[in-house]
Amino acid sequence: TVRTRFAPSPTGYLHLGGARTALYSWAYARHFGGTFILRIEDTDLERSTPEAVQAILDGMKWLGLDHDEGPFYQMQRMDRYREVILTMIEQGTAYLCYCSPEEVEAMRERMRAAGEKPRYDGTWRPEPGKALPPTPAGVKPVVRFKNPLDGEVTWNDVVKGPITISNRELDDLVIARPDGTPTYNFCVAIDDWDMGITHVLRGDDHVNNTPRQINILRALGAPLPEYGHLPMILGADGEKLSKRHGAVSVMEYPEQGYLPEAMLNYLARLGWSHGNDEIFSMEQFTEWFDLDHLTRSPAQFNAEKLAWLNNHYIRQADNERLAKLALPRMAADGADFHRAPDLAAVLGLMKERVNTINELADAAMLFYRAPNPDQALLDKHLTDAVRPALQDFAARIQTVEWNPAAIAVMIKEVLAAHGLKMPQLAMPLRLIITGQLQTPAIDAVLALFGREVVLARLAKFI
Ligand code: GLU
Repeated sequence: TVRTRFAPSPTGYLHLGGARTALYSWAYARHFGGTFILRIEDTDLERSTPEAVQAILDGMKWLGLDHDEGPFYQMQRMDRYREVILTMIEQGTAYLCYCSPEEVEAMRERMRAAGEKPRYDGTWRPEPGKALPPTPAGVKPVVRFKNPLDGEVTWNDVVKGPITISNRELDDLVIARPDGTPTYNFCVAIDDWDMGITHVLRGDDHVNNTPRQINILRALGAPLPEYGHLPMILGADGEKLSKRHGAVSVMEYPEQGYLPEAMLNYLARLGWSHGNDEIFSMEQFTEWFDLDHLTRSPAQFNAEKLAWLNNHYIRQADNERLAKLALPRMAADGADFHRAPDLAAVLGLMKERVNTINELADAAMLFYRAPNPDQALLDKHLTDAVRPALQDFAARIQTVEWNPAAIAVMIKEVLAAHGLKMPQLAMPLRLIITGQLQTPAIDAVLALFGREVVLARLAKFI
């Protein structure tokens, strides 16, 4: 059975690349009815923060990427790592190394000077028949992994295809520091083993770690997961995605008024394809997702496409849900909801042409703000020729049935009676009722405001 994990380091926000890795790992587990595990790799004490952990949890929750096990925290697994390190020393797959950092640096310097690739020279590496130096007093040793000297590490990367690294390229990795704390690659290998991970999907900045992790797993007699390294996400200019290209933090998107289903759909397609399908649900995605259609080349972030998807999902969304999302933004903007049209109905009218909830909230404000028509515009549109028609219009309001269709018919009658064209009546009406010239269809707008509000606002001008 398939067991995948998302293993972020909590050193900043959850960024788009991380979210995509999480999505693919999650979808792969869901596709097979497997298990998705969340693991927080918090051993870098200098850079890990509780805020970053929270940002990861918030981002996963917003996206709906639910985990079946975890979150596990590496800092809570220290005893386990120590236990494995002791076992490895006993079994001879790891050893104590008493070289000081200065000595290691000097060693590297010598090799660089000799034109060789700097590496640990194996001073403390035990070999049959080899005498080790006398143990220096007062030095705390590191623990090094006894990496195979010969042969190579090969794995068939599910994204990149076969990758081979010669063991000669790999050092005897430090797996525990002088204070006993385990190092990064070691923890990852042990966790993937203990958690029974079958498929590791992660960013391709980890390709160089994989042969090290494979060697550690082999030394432990642990089964190897499949590895897949996802190419990174680039900005439209081909540079690595960064702040310059727009928001990189996933949690900035809800703030800007993006819906999670738009972000999910966007990330799903950013690095994976299913024929020409661009719009699909998460049910479809988990049904379709496979490792064969992962994109090998770096993906380019396209803000317009994300906005286009968001527009699609806003149009699909239930109006009550949109109201819940827009309301706090509008309240902060000073919206007056007292005796105002129903917000869900207003948003239903306004949602066609907006790309974000923020744009939707802005557009809807015209229903929740006292109109303040510009005098110059009034002078232009509220002419003496139009006034009688507006008076006629106001008089008919009392008796007309109050819905867009009936209001539209009534407007036509007024236009005919006064020999006017639609804009001649609609423009001053828009100005007086909403304070602006651009609104959705005037009949729909008037219907939403309600008879009383329309009458009261008209009364001020005619
Ligand atoms: N903690 C690593 C990161 O945040 C991911 C490690 C992995 O997936 O193996 O980049």
